[in-house]
Amino acid sequence: MEQMTICIDISRCTACRACQVACKNWNQLKAEQTENRGSHENPPDLSGQTWNRIVFMETRISNDGIDWAFFSERCRHCDDPPCIEASESVPGAIIRHDSGAVLFTEKTQQLEYDDVLSYCPYDIPRKDKATGRINKCTMCVDRVTHGLKPACVTACSTGALNFGPRPEMLRFIEARIKALGGDANIYPGEDHNTIWILPENRKRYPLAQAMEVRRPYRRAARGKSGAVLAGVLLTAGLVKFRERVQPNPSEEKAGQ
Ligand code: SF4
Ligand code: SF4
Ligand code: SF4
Repeated sequence: MEQMTICIDISRCTACRACQVACKNWNQLKAEQTENRGSHENPPDLSGQTWNRIVFMETRISNDGIDWAFFSERCRHCDDPPCIEASESVPGAIIRHDSGAVLFTEKTQQLEYDDVLSYCPYDIPRKDKATGRINKCTMCVDRVTHGLKPACVTACSTGALNFGPRPEMLRFIEARIKALGGDANIYPGEDHNTIWILPENRKRYPLAQAMEVRRPYRRAARGKSGAVLAGVLLTAGLVKFRERVQPNPSEEKAGQ
């Protein structure tokens, strides 16, 4: 089948989290006990049972003003997925589907979780404690191969989540960036099948920044002495990200 792409326009995300619920519902993933962390953000992290979550970013802009931004965190479905390199010892454990989806199969139970995680520049794979399987977003390939959109896209009522053939999505992204103007840009890049539209400079989005720091470290993870320095940079980036991660929302609404 043709290559497909999810486009996440965060200028249209209202943090309603219908996408989180739809993902759980379609994929029959369990609810998980969480606790109030002083933030509207919930759950606090991806897990073996949570493959998509809305990250809240809050910046105080005046004594009584708060600027919020939201980031739908999930697998990037990389065109050239580094995580596949971690599955060389178990053929078929991680595969790239014609649709562009990168899929973790039941054979991931035979892989070392830490090794797989170290190959993902974006900190996405999570091990399911009950099954030992390593999980993440599947791009709803079981729906997509039957002509349906991913469950999260279907649930999104604002037009923040969009899905379609890759050339169509790239044209959509180009037009949207032009319409937003200013510092609007894409993340992480066109060599992925999940692409975010950022309405402002990516410095506004600490998650994107932290992951950029992490990327070179992870790709060079196996036996590189430079990993120590990169690890320090990674830690600094993630600490900065975690310090800033708290509640936050967006602007306009549109239907897909
Ligand atoms: S991406 Fe859509 S469904 Fe998900 S939180 Fe944002 S507006 Fe809601
Ligand atoms: S984001 Fe991570 S888990 Fe997803 S395809 Fe890329 S390397 Fe693999
Ligand atoms: S594409 Fe499917 S598996 Fe991925 S986040 Fe959306 S609903 Fe979940």
